[in-house]
Amino acid sequence: MGETIGIFSAVTGLVVALAGVCVLIYAGMRNQSSLLWLSGALAAAALEIVVLRPSVEPVLQTTSVSILLPLAYFCGSQAIRIATGRRQSSGSFVAIIALLICISLVVVGSGIENVYQTLPYKIAAAMAIGDILWCLVRIRNKSVIDYGLLVAAAGLATIFALRLPIYPTMASDAPSLYGLNRPEIERLLLAMVALVSPAIVLLLVAKVLTGAMASYREKSERDELTDLLNRRAFERMATEMEDRSGVVILCDIDHFKRINDRYGHRVGDDVIRAFGQQLRESCETAARIGGEEFAILVPDGSLAEAVAMTTVLRARLEDVRHQEIDPEHRLTASFGVAAFSPEQPFHDAVEAADKALYLAKNAGRDRVATHPEGLLAPREAWRAA
Ligand code: GH3
Ligand code: MG
Ligand code: MG
Repeated sequence: MGETIGIFSAVTGLVVALAGVCVLIYAGMRNQSSLLWLSGALAAAALEIVVLRPSVEPVLQTTSVSILLPLAYFCGSQAIRIATGRRQSSGSFVAIIALLICISLVVVGSGIENVYQTLPYKIAAAMAIGDILWCLVRIRNKSVIDYGLLVAAAGLATIFALRLPIYPTMASDAPSLYGLNRPEIERLLLAMVALVSPAIVLLLVAKVLTGAMASYREKSERDELTDLLNRRAFERMATEMEDRSGVVILCDIDHFKRINDRYGHRVGDDVIRAFGQQLRESCETAARIGGEEFAILVPDGSLAEAVAMTTVLRARLEDVRHQEIDPEHRLTASFGVAAFSPEQPFHDAVEAADKALYLAKNAGRDRVATHPEGLLAPREAWRAA
């Protein structure tokens, strides 16, 4: 008996510690509510293990477990839902689980046979477990972590199924089950819980952390005003261009200061945003690298292809309008284009494109210039497209 209590205490301590870890990580990250749901699930599981100690009254055990078991799985299902990008369960799902728990409690109160009184809350728990497995199975492009979670959740479902015939209480004089007597079954099930719970917690924490890191990286590489890539992303892409060929296009809005001065900074921002949108629709690798300056990377493209693309782009930018800007005021941009290759490093190409851009500006703006060929007059460039 002393050994059984030892296992109960050890598993309770482990589950409580895991719940604490989840709360601490949640407090550090603030916006990862799946960890809060997971700590709720673990807290319910820890309480359940406490009330299942052999010394606790069977009626108290049944009553508590009727609430705690479905509650633990329900909290777990919400944690998995949030971590896998799904909405929380619908009100009707929650209502059905609550109703089944209530039915269980009423049946416990009326003193009906053990097997019937446990049925409603077991159905509620099975619904939550099914929901967990369903969410995990439906993840597209599963990562190693997702497969790990699926295996661990299947393990949890197996423990649940194994417990069905004995749960929540089994009289000390009950016949043996699975070829084991009662203390042996309890030890086996608790050992399984002790194995699966940390695995699920670690995998879910890993999923939340890797998801958060990917989202922070995505945000850190996005320009807030235009939703284009920002300079940091452009520089990262540049490091990936070593030993590759392609073209870099620089774009600068013409006389932008006049727009700010005449119509205000807010209208200026709207124009930058509208230019950004045109660029985004034309090219995924467009980045805003300065106030009204943009860069486009064309990996593996030729100079001729990039010039064709740029002239189309220049023409499209002519469509940018703003209701507060005088229709006579043409919004235009100038472009500098240069190629890179293993012989012509990317950073040299950026400098060359910058020189070409200044050539375009000095020649009167609203045009495309290449390096080393030089200036393409707007109409010639347009025909070249
Ligand atoms: P050019 O044709 O030679 O490029 O002339 P420009 O007026 O476009 O260039 P200049 O470099 O003289 O002015 C750029 C202006 O862009 C100055 C700065 O106040 C403005 N600017 C920079 N960032 C932002 C921004 O985020 N929003 C707004 N509204 N203005 C910005
Ligand atoms: Mg400018
Ligand atoms: Mg500029």
